[in-house]
Amino acid sequence: MKRVLTAAMHHESNSFNPIIAGEEDFRVIYGHDIFANLRENDSVTGIIQTLQTAGYEVIPTVFARAVPNGEVDYDFYQKIKGEIIERAKAAQAAGPIDAITLSLHGSMRVKGQGEAEGYLLEELRSLFPDIPIFCSLDMHATMTQRMHDHCDGFVGYKTAPHTDCFETGAHAAKMTIAALEQGAQPHAAWVRVPILVAGEQSETSVAPMLELIAALRETEQKAGIMAASYLMGYPWADNEDSSIAVYVVADGDMQLAAREAIALAELIWSKKDEFRFYTETYDEQTALDKAFAAVAAGETPVYLSDSGDNPTAGSSSDCTGFLRLIMNDERTRSLGKSILYGGIYDPVATKQCEGKAGQELTLTFGAKFDQVTSSPITATGVVKAYIKDWSGGGLIKSDLALFHSCGVDIVLAEAHVGYTTPAMFVDLGVDPKDAAIVVCKLGYLTPGHSAIAKRSIMALTKGSTNEDLRTLGYKQVKRPIFPLDSDFNYKAADNLMFKTARK
Ligand SMILES: [Zn+2]
Repeated sequence: MKRVLTAAMHHESNSFNPIIAGEEDFRVIYGHDIFANLRENDSVTGIIQTLQTAGYEVIPTVFARAVPNGEVDYDFYQKIKGEIIERAKAAQAAGPIDAITLSLHGSMRVKGQGEAEGYLLEELRSLFPDIPIFCSLDMHATMTQRMHDHCDGFVGYKTAPHTDCFETGAHAAKMTIAALEQGAQPHAAWVRVPILVAGEQSETSVAPMLELIAALRETEQKAGIMAASYLMGYPWADNEDSSIAVYVVADGDMQLAAREAIALAELIWSKKDEFRFYTETYDEQTALDKAFAAVAAGETPVYLSDSGDNPTAGSSSDCTGFLRLIMNDERTRSLGKSILYGGIYDPVATKQCEGKAGQELTLTFGAKFDQVTSSPITATGVVKAYIKDWSGGGLIKSDLALFHSCGVDIVLAEAHVGYTTPAMFVDLGVDPKDAAIVVCKLGYLTPGHSAIAKRSIMALTKGSTNEDLRTLGYKQVKRPIFPLDSDFNYKAADNLMFKTARK
């Protein structure tokens, strides 16, 4: 029975967010425990089930995943990587390993080191110089020379929001099987396309991504093509690799891979001016005005996204600017219903509410981590609810408090959680369905919120996921790059990064 080693490492690291993500932020599953923890719509599941169905022994190592955040702690990263390597060596000592298939994000960055995935692949490659290594990636992966050099083939998700994670894992597993059983010789071509684009402008259900993804699928139908991906990069990371990448894997034919990658790169470059928001989007004051007008027109609940400080896209989740604007607005107090606000990441202020339900408190909260974008709010209010170890968001547990002040029900979180589900509010005793205005630190609404919202407005607020990329002050990204620079020529063929076939 052939044996395939697997591991997963998923984190999207925002270099504008000063938080350093460490052990407490990650969910880590070791060894065989993964088999009892397989999730739907997960590339890990796609890899494992596809390989097992094909009759392989899957050797699990380490599976680490966290909500996007600031860069990852160096010691924690070394521990995870070291554990993967140690388990790989132990497996090798027990018998030959035939291939490695990994589930990676591709935009994890380590404080003081830089890229994360490239170094893991480099170490695995030096340990296993002669076996196929394939990986699934997030669509928002950032390709690097080190990743390119030490892997036989990547394939990225083709949907955003990501609904094809299982299929992408299965795709990576199928490339592994093709290399092991059918003698496939993967040749990979990478073309850099100098564009930074926010996730909110690259949903795959609308233009231009709809057409671009169709082109990828068409390319994958061609004889000899093993995989074709648009790796959209991650815009809130100021590093030398930040960019879109086109990545094509062809069987036995480098010229074919290069030709197809260049064509796909020219195509996405030709569409660069078409990336735009598909939801109503305004500056923060206009967004708030529109929300109150929506309430007057009976369009409730109206949702507002505090998009510049979106923890699910890697922001600190403790910026107070938009909340302060709402609390200071006369219309908030005379609304007749509390505005729901999710929320502020502040472990200290959250804990100050513990055991105080029903009591009045004066609290200072917010701007504990990101002290540049905004300042803390001090307000008197009532603790309406407190929950220990809430885990409805999936990955990590967090105490939550609901603090009412100035007409706003504010969720305070002890951990860096995402405001992805209406259940969080419901569990705290307030139902978004009955609210007039609901504010979440999100970009586009998640399906759960979307099902409730009568209207959705995105506020262009400040924070480390600020959607106006031109205001962020990048220092490391390679210039020129669109949209920071707009007046330059680009030729895809000049940006082709060859990878020689492995002997
Ligand atoms: Zn993504």
